[in-house]
Amino acid sequence: MHHIAIIGSGPAGYYTAEAAQKHWGEDVQVDVFDRLPVPYGLIRTGVAPDHQPIKAVSRRYEKTALTDNVRFVGNVSIGEDLSIADLHELYDAVVLATGAPDDRALGLPGEDLDNVFGSAEFVGWYNGHPQFADLAPDLSGKHAVVIGMGNVSLDVARILAKTEEEFTGSDIVGHALDALVNSGIEKITIVARRGPHQVAMTPKELGELAHLTRAVPRIDAADLPDEADDAILEPGLRKSVRHLRSFAAIPESVHADAAIEIYFDLFASPIAFIGDRKVEGMEIERTIVQTGRAVGTGETYRIPADLVVACIGYRTSPIPDVPFEERMGRFANDEGRILTGLYCVGWARRGPTGTIGTNRPDGYSVVSKIAEDLAAGKLGRAGKRGRAGFDELAKMRGLEIVTFKDWKKIEEAEAGAAREGAPREKFVSIESMIRALK
Ligand code: NAP
Repeated sequence: MHHIAIIGSGPAGYYTAEAAQKHWGEDVQVDVFDRLPVPYGLIRTGVAPDHQPIKAVSRRYEKTALTDNVRFVGNVSIGEDLSIADLHELYDAVVLATGAPDDRALGLPGEDLDNVFGSAEFVGWYNGHPQFADLAPDLSGKHAVVIGMGNVSLDVARILAKTEEEFTGSDIVGHALDALVNSGIEKITIVARRGPHQVAMTPKELGELAHLTRAVPRIDAADLPDEADDAILEPGLRKSVRHLRSFAAIPESVHADAAIEIYFDLFASPIAFIGDRKVEGMEIERTIVQTGRAVGTGETYRIPADLVVACIGYRTSPIPDVPFEERMGRFANDEGRILTGLYCVGWARRGPTGTIGTNRPDGYSVVSKIAEDLAAGKLGRAGKRGRAGFDELAKMRGLEIVTFKDWKKIEEAEAGAAREGAPREKFVSIESMIRALK
């Protein structure tokens, strides 16, 4: 029997579990650990609450989770409750699928002013992540600024712009819905340091901005390159640019009727946050793009900002004794291998890029590396105790483990508490999740 510990129950974790099961069949036991009492990582707390079809992929993970040789071990934090060394004692291979849950910092003056957030915090807040549920952003001001031109910026801008009715069928948490419904936001400025040809927003998601009830996107036609230049773009990017062009063609009469404007401030690099205690504005430098890079022109200007969400990418949380690549914000690894018997997958391996599906080949690839290392006798002594050994250790340390069966009870309670038309009302604290089991 081979024993594998996977740390993290998001897409990367469950695709790896699925791959292990496919590879070894009944000859493997996989424990999937999570620091939260609930599974699915980014699917639950990262994917936008109004993108329910994307969340449906969790049904595939549930199929894996419900098999005999894979089990969910929730409410256990590696690095706190258990060390990597503890896991090596018990399992043949340890796979870090911990994602990239921390915000990258901009490193600009004023970044620590009130009402300036990173997207991990802000998205975690509206998605009910226990770590960020108490964030309490102030949405009473007129001007919101979203930094970055990726899909997370789009998620944040769209969520800030939607009406209560547009959240029907979503699982946005109650505290966020209340705050959003009462928000005073009239303008959302997306600040992007490069131009239309460098947009990282994907076409389907960008297209959604054109169909909002009370918000209309605006882009300056002068910021668009000649249409003929789009021919060199790969098809997905060309489609995204086509959306931007269509935003530039929206007539003024439509803008005049909109309660919220979503303005794309392109070729705009943030250089400072302005304010005393709370953010009031941003200092921006105009850029030009030279050989793909944003270069400052020296021309600066200020924009008002009552709320800022920086959506500039994420970092993996370091774990004691695990080599880390500071610059990239991920574990130092060679195609998924970190150290003997220690591997990583998903964003913890690659950094925060790609779609949910990108994690599937990642999981299968790391399993074939584990198989190679096992066959080569590189993974130490045989006869490790795996699951049984962990259960003893957990008992000794008094860990309160949440199983998949427990999760199904939490899930049922969340479904039972849902607003009309919503799939669930999430518990937003670890204590309330545990209480639901008692
Ligand atoms: P992203 O796609 O890498 O976008 C990050 C944005 O931040 C880029 O526009 C980048 O500009 C900008 N940025 C980075 N550093 C900056 C700085 N110092 N100053 C100003 N701007 C800066 O990252 P993301 O939006 O966090 O998304 C992460 C991944 O999740 C992506 O693969 C994304 O597609 C995926 N995702 C998908 C969905 C979906 O499919 N619905 C939803 C959410 C996320 P430069 O390009 O100039 O560096």
